[in-house]
Amino acid sequence: MAKVAVIGAGLAGSEAAYRIANEGFEVDLYEMRPQKKTPAHRTDKFAELVCSNSLGGKEITTGAGLLKEEMKMLNSLVVKTAEEFSVPAGGALAVDREKFSQKITETLENHPNINVIREEVKKIPENYEVVVIATGPLTSEELSKEIQKLTGQEHLYFYDAIAPTVDAETVDFSKGFWGDRYGKGEGDYFNCVLTEEEYERFYEELLKGKQVPLKDFERAVFFEGCLPIEEIARRGKQTLLFGPMKPVGLVDPRTGKQPFAVVQLRKENKEGSLLSMVGFQTKLKYPEQKRIFRLIPALKDAVFVRLGSIHRNTFIQSQKVLKPTLQMKERPNILFAGQITGVEGYAASSATGILAGINAVKILKGEEPVVPPETTMLGGLVKYITEPKEELQPMNPNFALLPNLKGKKVRDKRKRKLLKAERALRDMEKFVKDLSSVSA
Ligand SMILES: Cc1cc2nc3c(=O)[nH]c(=O)nc-3n(C[C@H](O)[C@H](O)[C@H](O)COP(=O)(O)OP(=O)(O)OC[C@H]3O[C@@H](n4cnc5c(N)ncnc54)[C@H](O)[C@@H]3O)c2cc1C
Repeated sequence: MAKVAVIGAGLAGSEAAYRIANEGFEVDLYEMRPQKKTPAHRTDKFAELVCSNSLGGKEITTGAGLLKEEMKMLNSLVVKTAEEFSVPAGGALAVDREKFSQKITETLENHPNINVIREEVKKIPENYEVVVIATGPLTSEELSKEIQKLTGQEHLYFYDAIAPTVDAETVDFSKGFWGDRYGKGEGDYFNCVLTEEEYERFYEELLKGKQVPLKDFERAVFFEGCLPIEEIARRGKQTLLFGPMKPVGLVDPRTGKQPFAVVQLRKENKEGSLLSMVGFQTKLKYPEQKRIFRLIPALKDAVFVRLGSIHRNTFIQSQKVLKPTLQMKERPNILFAGQITGVEGYAASSATGILAGINAVKILKGEEPVVPPETTMLGGLVKYITEPKEELQPMNPNFALLPNLKGKKVRDKRKRKLLKAERALRDMEKFVKDLSSVSA
């Protein structure tokens, strides 16, 4: 009998199973489709791309591009297959989705070490040495309940209400001030100030902003008290000033007065290179978010590393539950991979699958599980989802996750990204080399 179970043959589960099987261990790979469907998947194939057919940018100066390059070094099944069935898409790696999923399904079904079991897993299996849970954002209800028991109820979220996140380097800090409401805290908030005229203009545009149409489950989410910013605005001109844009308890040290309105930015990581707009979850279309949020003076030239959204998404609070090796803190023989860990998107989900596969093998061999260097995009993502923070909201690969370069500051943004990318690839190369020398 196999010693490892991988649950979910999506992007992450396919990568994990492939890695473990290639290292010579038998894997039971569980997939509930076609018996049990998800609201998004259409086929019974593995690694189905549920929406866009693009795995993001190809250039190493894009977050997804650098991550894919690192994944190639780790012998990624997803990237290899995507390249084989790519279709022209400018700077992005897009694929013929049917051929892509078909090939991954065949590769795994025909692998001598993989035993595919088409059934819904309803309980975490106890008869394996290692279990990898990779059931994705649409994890079945029964298993979600089990995961909730495993992680603690408060550590499994069923939707994400994402507020936009900006690259701190692109914020105009002269248009606001650092400080906490009523002076309580350690000055972790940057308050973007708006005058009455600026607020009125912002408010009018917010009301006019085009929204993504709502689905039924999203209405339920709103009902639970997580209102999009534009819905709050619709309740009256003053409502925002008593909600996410309230100035009460804040004094602008530049004027000694309370501003008319503020938008608070909160540090998303220890370094403060990522700042999120507090309470600004939204269903506005992406171009509308950029247009409207740039009316806030401090964000006039802001680069949004992630835009706001409200989605159904099952994900754990990895910072409370997981080690950076993707093992559970409480049950180290259970690993999580894919979007359920709080990473976002096809490439990031697949990449964490590879890491879970690597560490499943390490556990089986009695070796120490590993963490990729934080200078790599994979390492930066893993660090982000597992480092201490009050609440984790999903994150996609982006350069603000990577530590600053040592030495003199490089002013040119593209050059800076290139240098960070080159450093990441060098460090990933060393990581891969160390992996194979331990395994040999
Ligand atoms: C509607 C929607 C649209 C998205 N669009 C995009 C997009 O355009 N671009 C992008 O980059 N990302 C997108 N994402 C985000 C995300 O990257 C993908 O969902 C990605 O597929 C996640 O990979 P995964 O391996 O974690 O999960 P999945 O690919 O969803 O794989 C999980 C697998 O587990 C199976 N499973 C679930 N529960 C069980 C169970 N109990 N027992 C056995 N099997 C089970 C599922 O059937 C599925 O095959 C979207 C997500 C959703 C929900």
